[in-house]
Amino acid sequence: MINVNKKMYELGNEGSAIRELFEYGKKRKLEIGDDNVFDFSIGNPSAKVPEKLTKTLKELLDNEDIHSYTSNVGDNKTRENIAKYLSSTYNTYIDKNLIYMTCGASASLFLAFNALVESEDDEIILFAPFFPEYRVFIEKTGAKVVVVDPDYDHFEINFDDLDRKINKNTKAVVINFPNNPTGAIITNKTLEKLSNYLKDKEKQYNKVIYLISDEPYREIIYDGNVCPFVTNYYDDSIVCYSYSKALSLAGERIGYTLVNPKAKEAENVFKAICGAGRSLGFVCAPSLFQKAVGLNQGLLCNINEYKENRDILVNNLTKLGYEFVYPKGAFYLFVKAFENDDIAFSKKAMKHELLLVPSSSFGIKGYVRVSYCVKKEVIINSYDAFKKLKEEYK
Ligand code: PLP
Repeated sequence: MINVNKKMYELGNEGSAIRELFEYGKKRKLEIGDDNVFDFSIGNPSAKVPEKLTKTLKELLDNEDIHSYTSNVGDNKTRENIAKYLSSTYNTYIDKNLIYMTCGASASLFLAFNALVESEDDEIILFAPFFPEYRVFIEKTGAKVVVVDPDYDHFEINFDDLDRKINKNTKAVVINFPNNPTGAIITNKTLEKLSNYLKDKEKQYNKVIYLISDEPYREIIYDGNVCPFVTNYYDDSIVCYSYSKALSLAGERIGYTLVNPKAKEAENVFKAICGAGRSLGFVCAPSLFQKAVGLNQGLLCNINEYKENRDILVNNLTKLGYEFVYPKGAFYLFVKAFENDDIAFSKKAMKHELLLVPSSSFGIKGYVRVSYCVKKEVIINSYDAFKKLKEEYK
């Protein structure tokens, strides 16, 4: 008999497929040695935290009363620095009073969903493949998750299917570029098209439809590509950001939610975000890290390491006959499995000590995600394992 919340029990009991593979990897490494397991399971940044950030942390610890509560919404100076940085970098206007500091992008997204959802009729649109925890966060608010089929050519937006799925109950649409798990970046043209499309739908249904942009990989972009900033395209937008990846601070839990000052109901949305924070106990994000990131706007870990890893992986897998859409950002490669059953494919990969996340976790079949935020040697040494896996399908 289970005398606790059944849904919560189930979520806690089943865990995520990514975490399961990650835990398996840790166990397997103890059994056969670190060098013999090619663990591409989790997006734990491998680049070092920038020295400047570590220096700031030390100075803050030495000189400031750093451990006290900040305001619920976050440290005022930090919010001001973020607003200034974003406004000048993206040639936009961001209001510090519409920024809420959070424990990473997870809390940021959860606040946004909780702030917006009004009733169980509300629907939130996700584009497959998508970060699996979106579904968990959205379902907890009572809203319905609606999944739009992938645009298999570029992993941007499948407008035909979006048009089939959007309706008068659509409350928000979530995008994530650079994307986990595909590494795709949305082009200016596609974001403009999506914005115009949503503006038309707002008129047609006479309601506000929010565009939530989840951006933990915003700066992790290669080859001079750029990823457009959503507030410049669509007024009713919310940005969910995290320093987990750009500054390799994943374990420290720091990020923010911001509301576009041009949103029709910007102030109301922000108040609802504050209320969501209060009701969930998501107030006053870690003070030390709020202040440290506030003083280091624009700082980035060495993403050349990821680019180098991507290039080696892309070359090796191309040579071996694997197929994928060339990744322009983030640190993931989304590879087509040699059978439609991605779980079976991932299990076969495990026999060669290759840990690859099945795409079913991300809402589509037939792919695996390779996280290349690992030591370069892991990628180089995994070549034979990928070769043997391919040979199983001859
Ligand atoms: N959104 C996406 C697309 C992610 O890949 C992740 C983490 O991997 C998150 C959100 C959660 O980020 P955080 O660690 O900042 O909570």
